[in-house]
Amino acid sequence: MAIDLHRCAVVADPGDLLLTRVYPAPFRPSRTPFQRDRERIVQARAFRRLAGKTQVFTSRASDHFRSRLTHTIEVAQIARAVAASLGLHEDLAETLALVHDIGHPPFGHAGERALDWCLKRHGSGFDHNIHALRIVDHFEQRYAAHRGLNLTLGVREGIIKHSRDYSIEKHPDLKGLLLDQRPPLEAQLIDLADEIAYLTADLDDGVESGLLEIGHICEHVEIVARCYKNVEREHAGVDEKFLFNEALQLMQNILTDDLIENTALNTQAIGAESLADIRRHPSRLALFSPEVEAQRLQEKQYLYDTLYTCPALEHEHDKAEEVVTALFDYWINDPAELPVSHFESVEKQGLARVVADYIAGMTDSFILMQYAQIKRAVRQ
Ligand code: MG
Repeated sequence: MAIDLHRCAVVADPGDLLLTRVYPAPFRPSRTPFQRDRERIVQARAFRRLAGKTQVFTSRASDHFRSRLTHTIEVAQIARAVAASLGLHEDLAETLALVHDIGHPPFGHAGERALDWCLKRHGSGFDHNIHALRIVDHFEQRYAAHRGLNLTLGVREGIIKHSRDYSIEKHPDLKGLLLDQRPPLEAQLIDLADEIAYLTADLDDGVESGLLEIGHICEHVEIVARCYKNVEREHAGVDEKFLFNEALQLMQNILTDDLIENTALNTQAIGAESLADIRRHPSRLALFSPEVEAQRLQEKQYLYDTLYTCPALEHEHDKAEEVVTALFDYWINDPAELPVSHFESVEKQGLARVVADYIAGMTDSFILMQYAQIKRAVRQ
């Protein structure tokens, strides 16, 4: 089967709408605009802070678990490989993968949930994609002429739309990001590359942590059982941990190949000949096949039931909620205690949003330090 979708790829010719930036930027012959965006993202402070943010397990438990940064790098290599196999724009796909989690608060999803609850009490909410756009558009300060990283429209659109669609009615502030159209395949595939990365990594880290057992996984997750049996046949007598590692690699390959093939099939099935055809199609085309999608859902459910909601991690989640909520309330009640650079934004952004922005940017260790300080201050 021919799987080259280059005619449906983002082309990025000079003058293309997706290459436009809010502020004019000098032409650099040595790098493409998306390569330049990749550099801007990799050199951003918010990108470096991903090293100190929880993916699933905190770094306090072991140095071997994924952080948001190493997870991001894993997503980037999968996204680039998928884009290359399909003839899509590899630089755009890689750049979007590198930036896809930059808006995540400390403490993984528990931190995000807590921040969302805090903001809901003030009539809004927290969305990590919208926060990511605020980071790259406003918070990063590397240029004399403007705030933000001045990224291309193609990357800014993908930051918002890689995982879901946003309506202009609910999000008038996102005007200009082509909300009435589907995103290019380079953006659509990021969410699936993210799935492939964490479905593999969370089983790996889960076993490493001792919270999951290889035998139990194979009893309940069909795709892992099948991969494990395959590698067992090839490597008889080898220790189960090595077989499990091989099985996970095989599973990652199966998921990746399925995404490549099924995205090509979907695109060919609608007769898409250009990026415009991808954009106007009512649904996304980068998808797993129905069979693999069913197996993905089974594994995801297993991870929810046995890992994400297990007592050991729920204890961490409770702590995360306590810390985020206590700090949010502390600065809401006493905004003068905010750092001056944040306090200055209160008039324009509103206090609740400024406090949430400050907290969302923190690493796990920094927020715990802040929490210890305010507890000491309250006691005195
Ligand atoms: Mg992710």
